[in-house]
Amino acid sequence: MSHIKGIAASSGIAIAKVYRLEAPDLSYNKNNVDVPEDEVKRLHEALDISKSELEKIKEHTKKSLGDEHAEIFSAHLLVLSDPELIQPIEDKIKSENVNAEAALDETANMFIDMFKNMDNEYMRERAADIQDVTKRVMAHLLDVTFPDPALINEEVVIVADDLTPSDTAQLNKQYVKGFTTDIGGRTSHSAIMARSLEIPAVVGTKEITSKAEKDETIIVDGIDGDVIVNPTEEELHTYQQKMDDFEQQKQEWAKLKDEPTVTADGTHVELAANIGTPDDIEGVLNNGGEGVGLYRTEFLYMGKSQLPTEEEQFGAYKSVLEQMGDKPVVVRTLDIGGDKELDYLDLPKELNPFLGFRAIRLCLERDDIFRTQLRALLRASVHGNLKIMFPMIATLEEFREAKNMLDEEKLKLKEAGHDISDDIEVGIMVEIPATAMIARQFAKEVDFFSIGTNDLIQYTMAADRMNERVSYLYQPYNPAILNLINNVIEAAHAEGKWAGMCGEMAGDSIAIPILLGLGLDEFSMSATSILPARTQLKDLSREEMASYKETLLSMGTADEVVAFIKEKTNQ
Ligand code: PEP
Ligand code: MG
Repeated sequence: MSHIKGIAASSGIAIAKVYRLEAPDLSYNKNNVDVPEDEVKRLHEALDISKSELEKIKEHTKKSLGDEHAEIFSAHLLVLSDPELIQPIEDKIKSENVNAEAALDETANMFIDMFKNMDNEYMRERAADIQDVTKRVMAHLLDVTFPDPALINEEVVIVADDLTPSDTAQLNKQYVKGFTTDIGGRTSHSAIMARSLEIPAVVGTKEITSKAEKDETIIVDGIDGDVIVNPTEEELHTYQQKMDDFEQQKQEWAKLKDEPTVTADGTHVELAANIGTPDDIEGVLNNGGEGVGLYRTEFLYMGKSQLPTEEEQFGAYKSVLEQMGDKPVVVRTLDIGGDKELDYLDLPKELNPFLGFRAIRLCLERDDIFRTQLRALLRASVHGNLKIMFPMIATLEEFREAKNMLDEEKLKLKEAGHDISDDIEVGIMVEIPATAMIARQFAKEVDFFSIGTNDLIQYTMAADRMNERVSYLYQPYNPAILNLINNVIEAAHAEGKWAGMCGEMAGDSIAIPILLGLGLDEFSMSATSILPARTQLKDLSREEMASYKETLLSMGTADEVVAFIKEKTNQ
């Protein structure tokens, strides 16, 4: 039995068998062979198994995430059947008398290098497809397991060093009861997605992969951040009870689903949800969301082999807007980079991806990608209450340039006879300390702010949000962060604008009283945090919290802030 502490990333309790998700060892020896025909046969057997697996994954993805996301697997299947790739591998086996592994690897690498260096984006995408598919075929040649989260068909808890957002998107809730990883923090995107999927998760354990073996029983406590491998009977009983209590608690919260969010002294604040796909709206409405405060559109671009078209995007935005009716929907333009990669864009690897060529920086340079998204958004605007926001804005020039492109596309669409809403608010995410510092200047030009604390904290504290070794510095309640937030809210109000927050801090029970006191207008969070937040806000007085503002802003440490709030709010 081992007890491991980690970061509670998605609440709930999971008890099931361990499923280890790890990259297989694909190293091989290059050998000369006597009977090349046998190698060709092995090659075809590996290709056939790979094809049937990919068919299954494609079907599963179609059902869980829709046709667009399944497309990447169609591209992979095409590669596996392409004689222009397969024939040269066979030829190499026969002409050089080498084993199938060496022929596959060398031939595939030759094509990958060739395609990667081409000017044509389509060909560069094919390089990424060949790379993915070759790994699967190689695993079958070597007879090593190639783990596929999408193919899991029994109840498990996934144990992994890390999960990428695209791994997480493939998880089937019916079978994947929870997951736990060595690395990652509460605001890494796989943790955020786990909360949307309502899968309990504990991340940043540092050591779970060295403690849990395949098929062992494991408990993941996503409420308190504990993981137990091989629990005793007594522990199993205790956690079963905790699981039942959590279900009961959820039923209590559900009673406030259709109620407005009003504090004890009668202030209304808006509780909105963060979403990644149109399918998330069901969860938003079931959890009583009053709007969408952040639609992370990058998931439309991920898990595919090429950029989404204007029509595809239009369909997704229209669907979200229509499902939300007249409730506000804040759509964030593409925020790729950091821990969210797009293989098919083939961007050079960077030493500091979170400080690099991401989000609005990429969009302003690749304005073909950006303008396609803006057009899709503008066309969808007549189907609901749309607001647009730009991510990672560091300077006023960036905002002006992005806004200018939006205005240009609006004009062109109107001239072409399209209906476009006339009251689309355009705002920015405040994620960079420089922007928070001069929020007064920004407030004159933007319609609203949404504070992205996930990034704002990492940039202010110089502590990577993905790195559990510096997670002690990732301090939402540090007075430095509170002062920046206050600066942004005051600046917005001075110009008659509204300020929201869509970082994970907005749904945190210690932060909520503080943010209420600072005057935050909109709190946007994982859908599952909405009802607990509404329950908490019902008992808080805005006036009382506002009276603590100066005390909190002048404190020296995060611990002092936490102790103060806990005492004042009986937590
Ligand atoms: C943020 O940075 O707070 C945010 C909401 O954006 P993301 O988590 O997608 O970086
Ligand atoms: Mg961010």
